Amino acid sequence: MKTVAILTLLLSLLSFDPAVVESANNGSVSFINPLNDKAVVLSNFGMRTHPILRTQKMHKGIDFKVSEGDKVYASEKGIVLFAGEKEKFGNFIMVKHSDGFVTRYAHLGRIDKELSNGSKVEKGQLLGLAGKSGQTTGPVLHFEILLDGEPQDPLKYLPHD
Ligand SMILES: [Zn+2]
Repeated sequence: MKTVAILTLLLSLLSFDPAVVESANNGSVSFINPLNDKAVVLSNFGMRTHPILRTQKMHKGIDFKVSEGDKVYASEKGIVLFAGEKEKFGNFIMVKHSDGFVTRYAHLGRIDKELSNGSKVEKGQLLGLAGKSGQTTGPVLHFEILLDGEPQDPLKYLPHD
């Protein structure tokens, strides 16, 4: 079956379908859900009324429903750019991936003590535990995917049914 899939892909590439070429170029980076595939999204990417400030603000990521202590995993392999406290984000981790992608994880209860700036992480490696640090109304995982510094809708990249 795998051989057939590869042959099909090669044949598609030969016909220069732009959509297929694009997905082939992005093939080296793929993301998993940082909690689990059944994680509930509380707040989507995009403009919204800020839950605390009550003004219209751009939400640069998505908020997942969590219980304090839920495990948070690296969505893809990469290098830790930042792991520590960062103002409204509370305990915050930022990971750089290949192809210009960065993922950001905010409001953690605890950061894995092995992690520091420059640490290498594997896809699915434990980053820390969910919580409610920083500016939030309750336990939540705020998760962002950036491409070349621009926030993307994470749901476009995460696996779904
Ligand atoms: Zn958020």
